Amino acid sequence: MTRAPFVTGNWKMHKTVSESLALIDGLLAETEAMTGVEVGVAPPFTALFAVGKRIGNTKLRLCAQNVHFEAHGAFTGEVSAAMLADCGVRYVIIGHSERRTLFGEADEGCQKKVGAVLGAGMRPILCVGETLAERDGGKALSVVTRQINAGLADVSSDKAAEVVVAYEPVWAIGTGRTATPAQAQEVHAHLRSVLTEKFGADFADQVRIQYGGSVKPENASELFGQKDIDGGLIGGASLKQDTFLAIVRGARA
Ligand code: PEP
Repeated sequence: MTRAPFVTGNWKMHKTVSESLALIDGLLAETEAMTGVEVGVAPPFTALFAVGKRIGNTKLRLCAQNVHFEAHGAFTGEVSAAMLADCGVRYVIIGHSERRTLFGEADEGCQKKVGAVLGAGMRPILCVGETLAERDGGKALSVVTRQINAGLADVSSDKAAEVVVAYEPVWAIGTGRTATPAQAQEVHAHLRSVLTEKFGADFADQVRIQYGGSVKPENASELFGQKDIDGGLIGGASLKQDTFLAIVRGARA
């Protein structure tokens, strides 16, 4: 089956509201006319409402970088799924390696967040990926298997097509070091087989699996040309209109 590639810019802790809107205007000038690719941006929480208003009903998808799994309550500093949906958010990044390593996020929390996001009518982008030590120790596939099985433990087959998975080897994030297309494809094919075991082939075939880790205009089209790579989750290179759009063009079917 053909899956529309999905390219998401993860802006991390960058950009004020006015900087965010300037970038959105630049992106919209091109993305509205694009076909064959879905494009998303994940601004910081502070810019979500303003960016959501500016994006409106255009083709650009508003994404969030994190969520809390509880619906409401005494959780100072946290934001619920309903609050994100209220800003126009369509996708939520869950379990990014920076959240896992810097903020102690674990598989169990990711599982609950996936449930909260789907429950609020949005779609999760579940990040998985091994560290360099895990790869060197021959554990890359077992680590991503554990992460995907835990994150999607409560997802039923009829919801599978709403899930996006992002394979992001931790050693390739923000390091300038990219997985080779063959290395990435090996893990993506493995993830697809885990999804097939869980959801059956028909549903697993619909799940987009993004690659993330130092994607640049120069390596995007070769990575995205691999059979099981359905676009990318882009960090640093998504902060500039020209480089992000060049990567998006590399994903167009
Ligand atoms: C990311 O943060 O998801 C990411 C892939 O970052 P970068 O593209 O900068 O490696």
